[in-house]
Amino acid sequence: MRFDLITIFPEFFAGPLDHGILRRAREAGLVEVNIEDLREFTKDRHRTVDDRPFGGGEGMVLKPEPLFEAVESLLGYGIGDATNPVAVKAKTAIVLMSAAGKLFTQETARRYAELDRIVFICGRYEGVDERVAEHLATEEISIGDFVLSGGELPATMIVDAVTRLLPGALGNEASSQNESFSAGLALAANSPPVGAQHAAPLQTEAVNRRGRRESESTAGNHVLLDFPHYTRPAEYRGWSVPEVLIGGHHREVAKWRRVAAIEKTRRNRPDLR
Ligand code: SAH
Repeated sequence: MRFDLITIFPEFFAGPLDHGILRRAREAGLVEVNIEDLREFTKDRHRTVDDRPFGGGEGMVLKPEPLFEAVESLLGYGIGDATNPVAVKAKTAIVLMSAAGKLFTQETARRYAELDRIVFICGRYEGVDERVAEHLATEEISIGDFVLSGGELPATMIVDAVTRLLPGALGNEASSQNESFSAGLALAANSPPVGAQHAAPLQTEAVNRRGRRESESTAGNHVLLDFPHYTRPAEYRGWSVPEVLIGGHHREVAKWRRVAAIEKTRRNRPDLR
């Protein structure tokens, strides 16, 4: 898997990619991360990446030319123009980070983990010329219903979420199968001991000409959050670990975890069920 991050702040990524699973995955050659300075793709003396918005209003907008040229230089081929658009190769996504994008979920992360290459476009200021969203990016993605000042943190979050799903990235493969939003827990939810409802059916996805997904279910397998975890000491300040977890009775532990996960999902995320 190769990630390319196009940004006006290339130093931004120094810390986040250098720890834990991400660092190990890079060292092991599971992922390659390439950071691309958008200003390298400007042609004027001032290395201008932004301009004032047509129609007026505050702020500046990232210009299309450096972004198109950065992506094409990374891909090694042109993506054409209005009269002759060229599709991006299979297994490659060009992801525009945008507060106005489609919501990123664990399902999106699983889909991305099947790709060979993801190029992230990190916006800044008021955002990015819309022609980038329409004709360059294969998808426009938001990491949540809030507005940040740039796409660098959102892109880093996606790199993290996708990397840990790659085979070999986690010490213990089971960890990514039995965690929040995962199929393992979703399966558990379909055969619960208490009257839990069934998983929402997966929406079907249509892929258009440019390789874009037209709709992605926000429900999907996202039926359960992780169950609560405990470690030593068994009693801390008078708060004790649930008795059943200490007994070491596997079936009982599994049953407790299923119920606890369902309860926690209802409490924290009633929208998921
Ligand atoms: N004017 C825009 C916000 C621009 S914020 C709007 O109202 O939607 C500047 C940049 O930060 C965006 O171009 C995008 O790349 C990034 N960004 C901000 N919030 C984000 C979010 N929730 N998800 C992904 N990217 C985000």
